Amino acid sequence: MTNYLVEFAYLIASILFILGLKGLSHPESARRGMVLAEVGMLMAIIGTLLHRDIVSYEWIIAGLLIGSTIGAAMSYWVPMTAMPQRTALSHAFGAFAAALVGISEYYRHGAELGSFTMGAIGFEVMLGAITTTGSLVAFAKLQGLTRGTPVVYKGQNIFNMSLLVFTIGIFIYLLIDPSASPVFYMMTGLAFLFGVLLVMPIGAADMPVVMSLLNSYAGLAAAATGFAISNNVLIIAGTLDGFSGFILSVLMCKAMNRSMTNVLFGAFGSDSSTAQIESGTEGTMREVNVDDVAIQLAYAKQVIFVPGYGMATAQAQHTVRELANVLESKGVTVKYAIHPVAGRMPGHMNVLLAEANVPYSSLYELEQINHEFPSTDVAVVIGANDVVNPDARDNAQSPIAGMPILEVDRARSVIVLKRGKGKGFAGIENPLFYKSVTGMLYGDAKDSLARLTQAVQHA
Ligand code: NDP
Repeated sequence: MTNYLVEFAYLIASILFILGLKGLSHPESARRGMVLAEVGMLMAIIGTLLHRDIVSYEWIIAGLLIGSTIGAAMSYWVPMTAMPQRTALSHAFGAFAAALVGISEYYRHGAELGSFTMGAIGFEVMLGAITTTGSLVAFAKLQGLTRGTPVVYKGQNIFNMSLLVFTIGIFIYLLIDPSASPVFYMMTGLAFLFGVLLVMPIGAADMPVVMSLLNSYAGLAAAATGFAISNNVLIIAGTLDGFSGFILSVLMCKAMNRSMTNVLFGAFGSDSSTAQIESGTEGTMREVNVDDVAIQLAYAKQVIFVPGYGMATAQAQHTVRELANVLESKGVTVKYAIHPVAGRMPGHMNVLLAEANVPYSSLYELEQINHEFPSTDVAVVIGANDVVNPDARDNAQSPIAGMPILEVDRARSVIVLKRGKGKGFAGIENPLFYKSVTGMLYGDAKDSLARLTQAVQHA
């Protein structure tokens, strides 16, 4: 009877995970999707707690209490801008749990394991270990605990590849002889080491792609755990996680017009990778003041806001909304142009603007908005740089050549809000700032927007 209850709880959990994932595919249904996935996780936990193999509940309760306290504290205190590193840390914990389950299964059953179960456990431990250390390095880079720039040396890719091939070779040996426990522990150690070596040569700004890839490894590790311990919900949830993480990585690479190989092995962000033949960056940038911009905005018919990473660091989403409200009350049409990789994680801008209650109907994707720039009076670039860099379109020698951009330079007037002459994630110059249509309003984005809101009210 209990077995049926457990399987029933797992079935409901799996259905809720699938519905949750479907909900997450659209910003309007994302919140509901998240709730469904949370209830699904609760069902999976309840199902697991009913399992008859559980000998005592004390350790489980202690784990639940500690885990829930850490989780609740993190959700209150970690700021939105630190979300990428928080996610990296969660992946590390999840993957470490998967690796530990695999190690303990091997420790308990070792030599008696058949090739199939050994395969599942080996796969789980290998991917779990790679994801654990890889995610910890990603966390350290994003949190600024280690150098964010790629750590590269001669022959690195060949060394890393040889290590991976050797580790996989050991894994295959274990399929033939599961009793060779020193070989198993050697494979585990090498996989932990490979995780570090895999992520060290990747720059901090590419970490979101790496993390969603590691997320997919963690998912596959969980699925392998499911096979190893005959747990259906782990197989289903792990597979969903594995493939959605992989699809997300591919989509992010596509939006940056870069291949997965370039992200993983191109050491993007190191000096040699961003050396470029610059174009259109001679001359000076035209500085403008708040009052001039306020008049332009107040008398515009249509204004398009283009948020980027700088809006996230300045936490300026609420102030943008206030400025938009004032402009709308003066009859100006306000739209928001969202680039798929603006910021530092997928959906970064959507999440921030939703937090400030910007209606979803005012957000436009790249393909929907680009044709509107020529008929737009003012495009206001808020802490965005690479995603509005016309070099991606016009200069075949640029490191970001071919990356789709928001074509703000086609608007009648462009106002760029940034603090100074800082470059974007790609570390390259942006000819947009030197164009005659562009005015630079220097200062922290939140501060500039607050001053603009006041000035527009009096314009
Ligand atoms: P960028 O990183 O290109 O530029 C951000 C700009 O914001 C900087 O030039 C900086 O200039 C300015 N800035 C920083 N802080 C502030 C502040 N407080 N107030 C005002 N301005 C500020 O951002 P984009 O959003 O344009 O581009 C995102 C980049 O990240 C792309 O290259 C993308 O490929 C990459 N990326 C995105 C991922 C994603 O999932 N979204 C994943 C991986 C990479 P200054 O210092 O002068 O103020």
